[in-house]
Amino acid sequence: MDGIKEPQSSYLSIKNLWKSFGSFIALEDVSLDIQEGEFVCFLGPSGCGKTTLLRAIAGLDLQTRGRLVQAGKDISNLPASERDYGIVFQSYALFPNLTIEKNIAFGLENTGRTKNEIEQRVAELLQLIGLPDQGPKYPAQLSGGQQQRIALARAIASGPGLLLLDEPLSALDAKVRVYLRHEIKTLQQKLGVTTIMVTHDQEEALSMADRIVVINEGKVEQIGTPNEVYCKPETLFVADFIGEMTQFRGIITGKSSIKIGNTELNTAAHQFDEGREVSLTIRPEDIIPLGAKPPTKNGLSNSRNNVFSTKLVEMEFLGSFWRCKLKSDEFSQALVTADFSVNAVRRLSLEPNQNLWIELPSESILAFDNQAA
Ligand code: ATP
Repeated sequence: MDGIKEPQSSYLSIKNLWKSFGSFIALEDVSLDIQEGEFVCFLGPSGCGKTTLLRAIAGLDLQTRGRLVQAGKDISNLPASERDYGIVFQSYALFPNLTIEKNIAFGLENTGRTKNEIEQRVAELLQLIGLPDQGPKYPAQLSGGQQQRIALARAIASGPGLLLLDEPLSALDAKVRVYLRHEIKTLQQKLGVTTIMVTHDQEEALSMADRIVVINEGKVEQIGTPNEVYCKPETLFVADFIGEMTQFRGIITGKSSIKIGNTELNTAAHQFDEGREVSLTIRPEDIIPLGAKPPTKNGLSNSRNNVFSTKLVEMEFLGSFWRCKLKSDEFSQALVTADFSVNAVRRLSLEPNQNLWIELPSESILAFDNQAA
């Protein structure tokens, strides 16, 4: 099939891909379509198979079964050197004995370009990544963040159809990481290059990706926009892995109600049958603090409120918000995590060990199959 043109609906098609290492199955029937110009993140915990998937796309480690189609061409069995991509690794992987200019020029040699054209392209790329004067230096003379920008310039030097980023930011310190997130995303949009980034950092994926592919134990759990995977997780694993949440066990009592112990909660509509045991989740930022006194009706957000009296047992200041732990008889004294804004804490004069009434908006309480965890 190699070299035969196929009808093209997406730029990269991953079709029923499997990868085994001996008897261990690292990827199980992964299928995915990536559109031209899209920025897609493979996100999942350590060992879930995201790097294995990227390496199969790159031809660095061939799949056991399944097919890969890039720009209408079956590349499933093509060697890495014949595939059309640029790649950036976590470790930068620059040649220490070559200058920055020579590092970037490396992939441009033997491509039919003249010396002059290569010099011009290198200068253009250095300008593009905001390091126009660093060409004559050696990698060791640059910071980690600068070296990673050089690795990026090298990866895009020949104008590949696909840019692969394997945890490109994880070796950098927090501030540089946040800055480079923005830089890479801006550059990707400017170039319009289809990009796949592997990361285990949910914040990185949420802030950079057009779509996130959440992977767990070699299988795709959910594919969606950052907003979809965060606000509408399809499984308990996705709800738990992306963002913070408190989890309860409950029994379904109606189409949008669940019982935790003796407490009945109004929830988002779900598809479970009455009597079914499920897991319930609520995000910390969805909990509304009402104050020390029982609220009046007009202080509440909607008609289907879940209003409870709790004790504020812990408060941790995290700069832009307070992470709080709440306890209540209504939840059998289980700890509930709530994030309150600095303004809300000030306005309600919240302090540890005080009584606090809270509201759990029904729409933010999600129910999941227990087996899905
Ligand atoms: P991390 O974020 O830690 O890199 P990952 O999601 O990228 O994790 P992979 O590197 O894709 O995970 O590995 C997936 C699974 O396959 C792991 O359990 C790993 O131990 C196993 N694995 C990867 N490469 C090999 C190999 N060459 N031989 C045997 N097992 C392997």
